[in-house]
Amino acid sequence: MPSPIRTLHATCHCRATTLSFALPCTALPLPVHFCHCTICRKTHGTLFSTHAEIPCPDTNLSAMTSYKSSEHVTKWFCKICGAHMLDRVDGGEHLKWYVAVSLVDAEEEVWKYTGHHFVESTKDGGAAVMMGRIGGVEMGMWKERKIEGGGFYERGNWSLSESVAGADEVEEKGMLRAKCHCGGVDFWIALPDVDEARPEPPVTKNPSKWSGRHCVCNSCRTTTSSFISSWINISSSALQEKAKSPLISEDSACLGTTYKSAKDVSRTFCNVCGASVSYRREEGAGVLKIAAGLLEGRGSRAESRIEWIKEVHETEYARLPQATQAFALGVENAG
Ligand SMILES: [Zn+2]
Ligand SMILES: [Zn+2]
Ligand SMILES: [Zn+2]
Repeated sequence: MPSPIRTLHATCHCRATTLSFALPCTALPLPVHFCHCTICRKTHGTLFSTHAEIPCPDTNLSAMTSYKSSEHVTKWFCKICGAHMLDRVDGGEHLKWYVAVSLVDAEEEVWKYTGHHFVESTKDGGAAVMMGRIGGVEMGMWKERKIEGGGFYERGNWSLSESVAGADEVEEKGMLRAKCHCGGVDFWIALPDVDEARPEPPVTKNPSKWSGRHCVCNSCRTTTSSFISSWINISSSALQEKAKSPLISEDSACLGTTYKSAKDVSRTFCNVCGASVSYRREEGAGVLKIAAGLLEGRGSRAESRIEWIKEVHETEYARLPQATQAFALGVENAG
């Protein structure tokens, strides 16, 4: 008797883009990996991406914008809200399709977490070190792609390299730089003025750092396509088009295309590569959240400039509860 078929669906925040794929129940749970590579961080604006290989999906690709992020990889994101839905890897004999797991409407048991890819590119372990174990299962940590029997990265040995492309300029200028993968969004952020009152809590212990916070709410998840979205909270007066240049306004096109995810919430994303860029509440004038995945520097968590709040925001809404719980625990126990 043939195995029963299960059809799974994925949707972005604005619901203009949907996809579905069918597979035999015997193929479940589907292997899932977390990717921490620079391309994933800088096209999603998050600290990592979460993908599963799926059969060729049923979808309308013309409702999405495609972006070729490397020679063999094409990514598709929603034209309206910017959510990355799908990746396709062309190479070898077959096309391989990968879905953004965080957008799939399914219980967590459908997935089997296998581990972390491209951890080396984070320089500091990034978000991988927060999720060393999920649901009691040890996660693989690979320098690059998962290779059976090779390249496994031992945990707890994260020494920041002396020189990292782009980092030296950031260090030298004493600022932060946010840049998406295609480079269409590229701006600088001054560090907080120690004497100036912060526009919004949380207050950092170190007054010369901005605060950062991870959020798992549905709006963040379905626009960034990541079940964990990481934001840094800055004064909009800290935005600069070039280092040490005049300020730019928070309405500037420098921040990308605007999508209103709620009546009082404006988000922006790069309309070329799909990276989430910013998030702002109308009532919180002067305060802006910037997608942490865009930050350049020595270490993907940018801890020389950012103090991460040890509590993950809105965990009660988690789409992937076990992975979220692991991450939240990792954040709580970090440093
Ligand atoms: Zn959309
Ligand atoms: Zn990647
Ligand atoms: Zn871009």
